[in-house]
Amino acid sequence: MQETNDHRDIWVFLEQFDGQPKQVGCELLGQARRLADQIGQQVGAVIISNEPQDAIDMARTYGADYAYVIEGAEYAQFTTDAFSEAFEHLCQEHKPEIILVGATANGRELASHLAVALEAGLTADCTSLTIDPETATMAWERPAFGGNLYARICANTHPQMGTVRPGAMPVPDPHPNENMQVIHEKFHPSRMRVKVKEFIEDLKDQGVSLQDAEVIVSGGRGMKGPENFKMLEKLAELLGGAVGCSRSVVEEGWLPASKQVGQTGSSVSPRIYIACGISGAVQHVAGMDHSDAIVAINQDPHAPIFDVADYCIVGDVFQVVPALIEELSAQ
Ligand SMILES: Cc1cc2nc3c(=O)[nH]c(=O)nc-3n(C[C@H](O)[C@H](O)[C@H](O)COP(=O)(O)OP(=O)(O)OC[C@H]3O[C@@H](n4cnc5c(N)ncnc54)[C@H](O)[C@@H]3O)c2cc1C
Repeated sequence: MQETNDHRDIWVFLEQFDGQPKQVGCELLGQARRLADQIGQQVGAVIISNEPQDAIDMARTYGADYAYVIEGAEYAQFTTDAFSEAFEHLCQEHKPEIILVGATANGRELASHLAVALEAGLTADCTSLTIDPETATMAWERPAFGGNLYARICANTHPQMGTVRPGAMPVPDPHPNENMQVIHEKFHPSRMRVKVKEFIEDLKDQGVSLQDAEVIVSGGRGMKGPENFKMLEKLAELLGGAVGCSRSVVEEGWLPASKQVGQTGSSVSPRIYIACGISGAVQHVAGMDHSDAIVAINQDPHAPIFDVADYCIVGDVFQVVPALIEELSAQ
């Protein structure tokens, strides 16, 4: 086996569900490649799984130099004990410089336990990453003070660790590395205090998920009531997309929290984001301003959403959205 020069490398955890790697994995591989090229180091993928093949393929497709794979039946479902111990084992053996983990529910739990085990600082929920090419010091950027400021945080502990919000970084173009090394390591966790007995899907959350949607039609308080979201569902259906919303809509009880976009909801970066009756508060914009194209419909010409929109429609959602539906239905 060829030796890996991984002592200052950037590692990415590739989280899977039912064998499928989550999209945040390729977003992070894209960032890791960009940062590693600036410091002349390598990108390593970390795969802990009972079915690692699809994650190995993702690592290869998005240009990792090598992948550490710990495979076993005990990793069929995420458990903090097993995954953090296995990851810690790899870190102790191979000493990465930087670790990137998706800020998913499992990723957040894994990263925080790992940081404690390694006595390393952890910056959570980052939305932007930069590196000093001379010192390899990361500047982890994340919203602070309710999204009114962005903090840049540097750690003076090793490895440097951060979680990154899914959708906060663009999906990179594939950059296949056919020479990627796949390094299998054996590790059996010493403790597994939690056993997953059953997985129950959120029935309210069926259809295209926000993270995967190429088009998101999002509604705010300007939609006036839950019944009016039917027309946003219709528009989303015609465009093959998903419905999202602002926090006000969740607070009103019109849609579940899983639909919320923003600093305390999901970060999304679809090809098209259509904001209907959303004012454009910084906390909302923090979760959608990486969208390729933003269309805003608002009756107030001074609404801040127009500052980030590519297409600004000053008008009443109850006139504009039905007109869009009629036009698309006729095609
Ligand atoms: C710590 C913290 C975290 C937060 N996290 C989030 C978050 O993750 N996501 C989030 O969204 N918010 C978040 N918020 C709340 C945020 O500050 C705003 O209060 C919220 O985004 C406003 O939602 P809105 O735009 O739907 O409602 P409003 O601000 O009330 O805006 C409604 C808009 O609809 C327009 N409108 C009304 N009627 C019509 C019509 N008929 N046609 C067209 N336009 C119309 C109005 O002109 C207005 O611009 C957070 C706040 C804090 C303090």
